[in-house]
Amino acid sequence: MENDHPIQNNIEKIKKRILAAALESKRDPNKIKLIAVSKYHDSKSILEAYQNGLRDFGENYVQEWKEKYSQLHSLNDISWHIIGPIQSNKVKYLNDSVKSIQSICSMSTVKELEKKWIHKTPVNIFVQLSVDKDDLNKSGLNSADASELISYILRCPQLSFAGFMGMGPINRSKSELETLYNYFYENCMALWRHHQCAGFPEISLGMSQDLEIAIACGATIIRVGTDIFGKPNLS
Ligand SMILES: *Cc1c(COP(=O)(O)O)cnc(C)c1O
Repeated sequence: MENDHPIQNNIEKIKKRILAAALESKRDPNKIKLIAVSKYHDSKSILEAYQNGLRDFGENYVQEWKEKYSQLHSLNDISWHIIGPIQSNKVKYLNDSVKSIQSICSMSTVKELEKKWIHKTPVNIFVQLSVDKDDLNKSGLNSADASELISYILRCPQLSFAGFMGMGPINRSKSELETLYNYFYENCMALWRHHQCAGFPEISLGMSQDLEIAIACGATIIRVGTDIFGKPNLS
């Protein structure tokens, strides 16, 4: 029965979608990382996803992550990713199970991380770049502000500049999203080259609704919540 194991079934479906999208755009599916976005879902759901092979989890709120981390810390091969706006006064709670912070939009958070990231391994920093400047609901920097932040991040030995995160607008057609995502990709590449970074940036783009389009436009990381865990029960 499909509904006996919704999370297991959902993960299988997502993996098939990633595979199909990668083949369609002639990309290596192994170069596309899936982050399971577990905001508003409990540790039990995360454990179920873990038992079905997932190791990368995204959380939006440091407080919520902290609670789940305390319940799940014995699963020491989980990589956590902070993907929501992070206030600088919350930075002190993070530990080295956090492998990336993807929602960096402000100098004050970068400076706090520079001070407080005392762990052995540098943390991967993603600068959140605006996908659609007309979408007022979604945060993200323009290229000029992102560039200034990147210059600073590159001078911090504990911070490893890894790439960019973007959030697509909702209620857009496939072709509108394609245009925006291709433009986003070009912006990322231009910034990466401008700062003479080696190799290629990580491009964290695409969620439940639009992961195929994001993969076609060069995403290396997709962040899927609803289509793995279901809609959160917010009461
Ligand atoms: C909630 C969230 C996601 C996952 O979105 P779904 O549509 O539930 O897959 C991805 N990225 C960010 C930043 C989010 O806040």
